[in-house]
Amino acid sequence: QDDQFKKVISHAKEYGYVFQSSEIYDGLSAVYDYAQNGVELKKNIRDYWWKAMVQMHDNIVGLDAAIFMHPTTWKASGHVDAFNDPLIDNKDSKKRYRADVLIEDYCAKIETKIEKEVNKAAKRFGEAFNKEEFLSTNGRVLGYQEKIDGILARMGKSLGEENLADVKALIEELEIACPLSGSRNWTDVKQFNLMFGTKLGASADSAMDLYLRPETAQGIFVNFLNVQKTGRMKIPFGIAQTGKAFRNEIVARQFIFRMREFEQMEMQFFVKPGTQKEWYEKWKETRLKWHLSLGMGEDNYRFHDHDKLAHYAEAAADIEFKFPFGFKELEGIHSRTDFDLSQHEKHSGKKLQYFDHEENKSYVPYVVETSIGLDRMFLAVFSNSLVEEELENNTTRTVLKLPAVLAPVKAAILPLVKKDGLPEVARKIVEDLKWDFNVTYDEKDAVGRRYRRQDANGTPFCITVDHDTLEDHMVTIRHRDTMEQNRVKIEDLRNIIKQEVDV
Ligand code: ATP
Repeated sequence: QDDQFKKVISHAKEYGYVFQSSEIYDGLSAVYDYAQNGVELKKNIRDYWWKAMVQMHDNIVGLDAAIFMHPTTWKASGHVDAFNDPLIDNKDSKKRYRADVLIEDYCAKIETKIEKEVNKAAKRFGEAFNKEEFLSTNGRVLGYQEKIDGILARMGKSLGEENLADVKALIEELEIACPLSGSRNWTDVKQFNLMFGTKLGASADSAMDLYLRPETAQGIFVNFLNVQKTGRMKIPFGIAQTGKAFRNEIVARQFIFRMREFEQMEMQFFVKPGTQKEWYEKWKETRLKWHLSLGMGEDNYRFHDHDKLAHYAEAAADIEFKFPFGFKELEGIHSRTDFDLSQHEKHSGKKLQYFDHEENKSYVPYVVETSIGLDRMFLAVFSNSLVEEELENNTTRTVLKLPAVLAPVKAAILPLVKKDGLPEVARKIVEDLKWDFNVTYDEKDAVGRRYRRQDANGTPFCITVDHDTLEDHMVTIRHRDTMEQNRVKIEDLRNIIKQEVDV
């Protein structure tokens, strides 16, 4: 697992997808830059989302609100008071942990232990093996299972101010059951606000304290009525937005999974009070379908319904994805009630209500939100696509099997040799195709090596121009995933590529 993740990170760097920010100054922790290929992949994911959410729904429109917002926004949203992470320090190692993440790590380790014991027993007993029976008769393993169940039940209480002492006790107990940190000397758990502060204005005394937005959603809420009126939107309708968000994550790690500056793709769907449950279910289903449409394997997704709810939510579920380090949240679907709009009404003194002509009355709409991290989606796609294949001749090849619609470069055009007029024909094909697709020209090295390079880069097609091309105007098209090659007419290339890369 760790090895696979290391490969993902080094591949992302080597092939120009993701670099550490400010690398020449030894980097900035949990901040990353997207390089020549990464920026294309990221843009393609964003476009794929935008198309599905905005273009394909006639009742959803877009928005691009500013990152800076009036500071009262964050009082109304609850972020000033409740946007906290519980932290705990280990006094011996001087390491700081996010308490909830640490507990998750303990649980994962205990689960692995149980799995190992179960597998061992299954091997020993063969066909007669019964997992439930084994667990119920094997005290030691059962002990772990009970511990996990107990923890999950207690975590359900949420890591609020009132149970920080419980959380500390729990971590101490877990460290004994399953040592992770190697020491048992912990500080108390403290809460830490995640928003980045900055100042607006030149002179120190007149400057206004601002926050960099920790989520894009609030830009949508404060514009709700403007969009509804000018767009003459009828409920139910949605507003979608993509953009940067900033969180001073304490334990930022796992590459681009948890960053301090990241991008969100959010959609707030405004509905009539009383219909939110239906819409919540509908959006859960719709969003899962969107993920499955990329063909990255049904088994890699699962829902996680929250019993521990954020201050604004009535119901919440995550779509989890199987990252190289296990199943983790990729997207959240939240039923936010009228919490946000009502809070903004209260703090701004302005009405944020919708007049429903059918009902002949005004109300504050309820909101169902879908919220996905673009960078996290990038990591899901990238890590899932990176495979090493054993070939028949006992060699291996590294392939980045990106869904064609998301691949940064759709086709590489390769002259077989750098002479005899082949480069000119290849460049002419590039000139023709570049109006429709991002394509590249490559003439360096033997053609086999160029194929491997494009495989590792994620390019779905290689198009090779050889001496016969000069006679028959046909080229060889090679498919990345199957390595199949066919001879096709140059004039058919556009349609062949289009079929694969169009949504
Ligand atoms: P987590 O529990 O992982 O911190 P969250 O529940 O706080 O996430 P939300 O506030 O619901 O996340 O944000 C919605 C989405 O934004 C998440 O599903 C995730 O994809 C993305 N996201 C949140 N925080 C980060 C981050 N620090 N870096 C990258 N993506 C993030």
